[in-house]
Amino acid sequence: MDTHSEHLRINPARFQANFDALSEIGATDDGGIHRPTFSEAHLAARAWFRDLIRESGLEFRVDEAGNHSAYLPCGPEDGPTLLLGSHLDSVPYGGRFDGALGVLSALEVLVVVKEAGISLPINLEAIDFTDEEGTHIGLLGSSALAGKLSHSDLEHPRGGKVAFIEGLNRAGLTKDGLLNAARHQGSLAGFVEVHIEQGMRLIDANAEIGVVTSIVGIGSSILTFIGRSDHAGTTSMEDRLDAAQGASAFILVIRDILHESFPHCVANVGKIDLMPGAFNIVPAEAILRLEYRAPEAHTLRILGQALLEGARFEANRFGLGLEVEDLGEYPPSLMHDEVRSAITNAADTLSLNHIPLTSMAGHDAQSLAGLCPVGMIFVPSVDGASHSPREFTTWENCIHGANTLLQTALRLAINIDQVG
Ligand SMILES: [Zn+2]
Repeated sequence: MDTHSEHLRINPARFQANFDALSEIGATDDGGIHRPTFSEAHLAARAWFRDLIRESGLEFRVDEAGNHSAYLPCGPEDGPTLLLGSHLDSVPYGGRFDGALGVLSALEVLVVVKEAGISLPINLEAIDFTDEEGTHIGLLGSSALAGKLSHSDLEHPRGGKVAFIEGLNRAGLTKDGLLNAARHQGSLAGFVEVHIEQGMRLIDANAEIGVVTSIVGIGSSILTFIGRSDHAGTTSMEDRLDAAQGASAFILVIRDILHESFPHCVANVGKIDLMPGAFNIVPAEAILRLEYRAPEAHTLRILGQALLEGARFEANRFGLGLEVEDLGEYPPSLMHDEVRSAITNAADTLSLNHIPLTSMAGHDAQSLAGLCPVGMIFVPSVDGASHSPREFTTWENCIHGANTLLQTALRLAINIDQVG
């Protein structure tokens, strides 16, 4: 890598001005933002991004999944594209950094390369993916781009079909278009995303950069503990088959299972329904929504089995039946070695402390993992806060993240030249 490229840095003042302007769109009184996918604020943010792309002298592109991009033809005319970016949508009443930081870091990289007048063996694209957060369908834009979206995926949007179709209409998109947005294998040289960590590990390690090794795998199931409804007053404590007690015992056991055997994993029961559901009836059924996450496929599988064993054991202990509806798994996604070493190398060049870590949250990079080499750069989240107005990353660390992305992109471009 020539010394000129190695000394390139992003423009902090411009980067911050863009970030502050974007943070105004959908701003809430408590310092957060509210930009659910296809809401007025979300579409306004996308329109703002489009205008900024044009003002920056970059080419604006939008695909049939509504993914918005800045494109810089700094490479051969039909050469591969190195994709950088994240998302401009937010969870309801979320923070300013989640997604927005990655999109604006990517845009800044393109502007810096354009200003430097460098030609590379690849072209550059800064992308804002549609509905990463799953207001309607999680990772929608990146799944569509990766060709992983199917008709059935569009059948059960989280907010209901009517809201989804209305949203698509507002954004000028169609279901057929979503299914036609796939890019060709080979058209992408890679994908790199800057994102806030959303946890405490970087702060605890006193590191400025997280080099993501994998994105966690997620399994989920619905567990129904089956007892017997009875009069809550006249049935003795010994005689009742109380589904709520067995289910509660299981929830407490989850903590022990994870603590003893799965130190790098998490599990959660996020919803409980008791049936019939009255003060004076012993619950006949307790229906639990269980989700668990692990960094490797093998661990995810045995964690799922261990949780199920725990549920069976507790159901037996309380004389209950157990029904299990397996909702399937999202496998973990490994980040590409070459991208990881480019990020590590970039952080070293910038004299930044870095550590490898697993992403415990899902991200667009997992959609693209089968399509091209992918990698992620994490920056520290103060107090680990995220999906909240409390979300905060120091401005210094935002700049470190963007500079690491710039130096990573340049290193990947040059490696591709050497390989090609
Ligand atoms: Zn995000």
